[in-house]
Amino acid sequence: MYLKVLGDVRFYAILEQIDGELAELARAQGCRCGGPLHRARYPRKPRGGPVGLGAGYEWRESYCCAVEGCRRRTTPPSVRFLGRKVYLGAVVVLVSALRQGPNPTRVRVLHDLFGVGERTLRRWRQWWQRRFAEGPFWRAARGRVLPVVTARDLPRGLVERFAGGAADQGCGVLRFLWPITTGSCVLAKGSF
Ligand SMILES: [Zn+2]
Repeated sequence: MYLKVLGDVRFYAILEQIDGELAELARAQGCRCGGPLHRARYPRKPRGGPVGLGAGYEWRESYCCAVEGCRRRTTPPSVRFLGRKVYLGAVVVLVSALRQGPNPTRVRVLHDLFGVGERTLRRWRQWWQRRFAEGPFWRAARGRVLPVVTARDLPRGLVERFAGGAADQGCGVLRFLWPITTGSCVLAKGSF
């Protein structure tokens, strides 16, 4: 199921729309100093997505404070880009999940479809089960996820806690993860 979603440009279009909303919220909130934000987006060459993603995927939204002497950077959270990882967030989550469970997708299949090799898959697993599992975000957020998801079940267990079909689960988990996608922007509570 996740394989189909990962190849569907409509799924990525939904994520792009959500990112647009997140960026607008961050921009409207302004800089921590109270100054207005100017657009200063980063070029990206994300890997792992299907053909025909559109030009929007070549950019990660970001802003700079317009106040002379501040110029602080504000990068809005994202459901498309998981921090600085080169692969799209959806790929890092769902391809990792595909390697878990009772019938894991074969490495060769994942490599052919997404260009992700065994070493990268291992690195992602370690990231999920160590850095993510032991990090402050998951330690604070895991109590909201029931039934309990153990570090060993990450990320598949987390994805499966979201209701709906594969696309809904994908959107749900990527929305849930947005706080870890930026270190320079905290959206006001209740705004998302
Ligand atoms: Zn500022």
